[in-house]
Amino acid sequence: MKQQELNKQLLDFAETLLDENHQLSFRMSGNSMYPALKAGDIGFVQKCDEKDLNKGDIIVFNQNGRLVAHRLIGMFTRDDIQFIIAKGDKNSYTDNPITIESLIGKVYSFQRGNKKKKIDSTKMKLNKFVALHFSTPIIPFYNFRLQAGKRFNLLWSELKSIKNNISIVSKESEKILFVNIIISILQGVLPFIIIVCIKTLIDQLTSISTQNESQRLYFTVILIITALVFLASGVLSELKTYFSLKLSQSITHQIYQKLHWKHASLDLSRYESPAEQDKIHRAVQEASFRPIKIVSEMLIGIKSVAAALFLVGLFITIKWHLIVILIIAIIPGVYFRLKSSRKLYKQKEAQSTKEREMYYFNRILTGLPFAKEMKLFGFFDFFKQHFSNVQNMLFEQQIKLRKSELWLNIFAQIFSVSLIFLSLGFVSYLKIKGEISIGTVALFFFAFQRGYGVLNELFMSATQILEDNTFLNDFIAFLNMPTSSNSLQSDHSFSLSKEIRIENVRFRYKSSKRDALKLVNITIPAGKTVAFVGANGSGKTTLIKLLCGFYQPDSGRILFDGIDATEIGQQKICENITAVFQDFALYNISAINNIGLGNTRETLDFDKAVKAAKAAGINDILEHLPNGYNTLLGNLFSCGEELSIGQWQKMAIARAFYRDSSLVLLDEPSSALDAESELQIINGLKKLSHDKTAVIISHRLSTVQWADIIYVFNDGEVVESGNHQELLQLGGKYYSLFHTNNNQSIE
Ligand code: ADP
Repeated sequence: MKQQELNKQLLDFAETLLDENHQLSFRMSGNSMYPALKAGDIGFVQKCDEKDLNKGDIIVFNQNGRLVAHRLIGMFTRDDIQFIIAKGDKNSYTDNPITIESLIGKVYSFQRGNKKKKIDSTKMKLNKFVALHFSTPIIPFYNFRLQAGKRFNLLWSELKSIKNNISIVSKESEKILFVNIIISILQGVLPFIIIVCIKTLIDQLTSISTQNESQRLYFTVILIITALVFLASGVLSELKTYFSLKLSQSITHQIYQKLHWKHASLDLSRYESPAEQDKIHRAVQEASFRPIKIVSEMLIGIKSVAAALFLVGLFITIKWHLIVILIIAIIPGVYFRLKSSRKLYKQKEAQSTKEREMYYFNRILTGLPFAKEMKLFGFFDFFKQHFSNVQNMLFEQQIKLRKSELWLNIFAQIFSVSLIFLSLGFVSYLKIKGEISIGTVALFFFAFQRGYGVLNELFMSATQILEDNTFLNDFIAFLNMPTSSNSLQSDHSFSLSKEIRIENVRFRYKSSKRDALKLVNITIPAGKTVAFVGANGSGKTTLIKLLCGFYQPDSGRILFDGIDATEIGQQKICENITAVFQDFALYNISAINNIGLGNTRETLDFDKAVKAAKAAGINDILEHLPNGYNTLLGNLFSCGEELSIGQWQKMAIARAFYRDSSLVLLDEPSSALDAESELQIINGLKKLSHDKTAVIISHRLSTVQWADIIYVFNDGEVVESGNHQELLQLGGKYYSLFHTNNNQSIE
């Protein structure tokens, strides 16, 4: 749904609520005084300086300096109260120091779905009172409450997001995940069972008498049980290796499926802004390992929880205080780790652009397409230097962060080791006093050593999960990016028996400050061949992209037989047209499959492929390849046959012809071919079918002069139209283009 429509719906909804005299309430969330607004909520804000607000602004429900950000989508006034309709951001909370004082309104009420929440009026009054009479810093308790509330909410929403992210990641691997969970629990508990067995064995050994039959039998039974538990532990670790591989394969498989599907369904415009590219870059980078990592960390967490529960039971039988010492021992380490994971994410986010730059330079330094020019112009050092500069800068920042944490982590280690040794001393003291047996001392030593590991692992895996989740959010946000606005199935069918009408079309690329198309009005009659000509950058390719439905006009419309392209939908348009672009792709697969890609909805038709290859003028070449049409093309893999760039271009044209659509769009389809080949291709197209509608962009005016209509583009506008003769007689732009063209070719 378009944003404007959504906003209008929300506004209408707000109006209705007021009309129906709803008692809207203001909810306090947790300890916090902030209303926990979420995406889709409607916040009604009392009093606000309208002149300072524009739609899309972040408005801040300011209560004593701490901020909750929301996007403004509309305002209206009723009974002297000004209402501001705001849509909660996904990231409800922000620490950004937004200082624009005017963006302030007091939350009056808000509504989520149809649910009403009860107001906590005492808190509300308290907050109001404090806000009016005191500044936050002089009331430490109040401030603490604010902080605690905020942190609680943050943690709560983080936990919810972890649950959500893990379930997205492991959705189709539930059974195998379950097996892994069981194994993890057993793996957590077994080492402690072994420790208990060993304690029992030691205690038996110190008191056993060889004459006592029952003691001997008991000892043997314990020994056998210990051996069995050892065996079970070994078997479990083998099972773990096997099942975690299965789990990681299953997750990897579905993550890549999601990733590829999402890429395919995104609007092209998504790839235009550097900020969006940064987001996509991070998502793709993290997708390769983060989902598996978070699930493995969760399994480690489960294993540690099982072990910790067992451990608590064990310590209760010795001295329960010791478990408290154990927990205190690991707290500093966990705390520093948590802090560093946040910093790490912020750093990673800030480094995204530079990292992309580094990968880009690396691609130039190692990629085949750049190798020729690099050798010829010798610019290896230039890019090597650029690569090293960026890499050094990134590495330095990373090292700086690690260094700042190094001392804190060493301190945490010293702290925990000291506490553990103190406890060991205490237990030895208990033994000397004769309060515990030697077996219990052994049990304690093992349990303490193992317990420290377990608790450390538990908290570390918890912090690791939080860290992974922060990174995984990028991937999930990528999956949640709106899919191609026009890719939905529609009820309208595509037909082209009359004409394509382009009416008052204006278009600007998101990343650009100029209109690529200003006000274009043209008609392409069905069955005719139309040519777009004009200088570079005059908007020809852009119009072709709009015809494919890749972008929507900012205003105006494109009609296929009178039906608006947006109603037909991009998917249906693409199914019914074919195109060759200037930047056509090379596929290192067999020649026949290269052509067959033109229509994968039907089974490959060899005769049709040969016909398309003939029309594109590449049949002779393909027939004489070592394996004919089955020859692998390109030099990426062994036994591949490399083609010339002109031959690759002909392959792209054959692929487009193979589709056999009623509309053929050719954007400089033969830039790498000579004039004769170009003419052959145009004739080939005509031979394939006479009733096709074709739109051709070409710089060679000699090859488009036979077109039924020629549209001359200049700076985003169509300045002339007509057939070749008419345009020459006009003596305008086309005339001068044609003569320049001819003169150039004569030179
Ligand atoms: P033509 O095909 O006539 O050479 P285009 O349609 O490719 O021209 O380009 C028209 C204008 O749009 C040019 O000013 C160009 O710089 C701009 N443009 C083209 N593609 C993009 C893009 N992806 N992002 C931003 N601007 C673009």
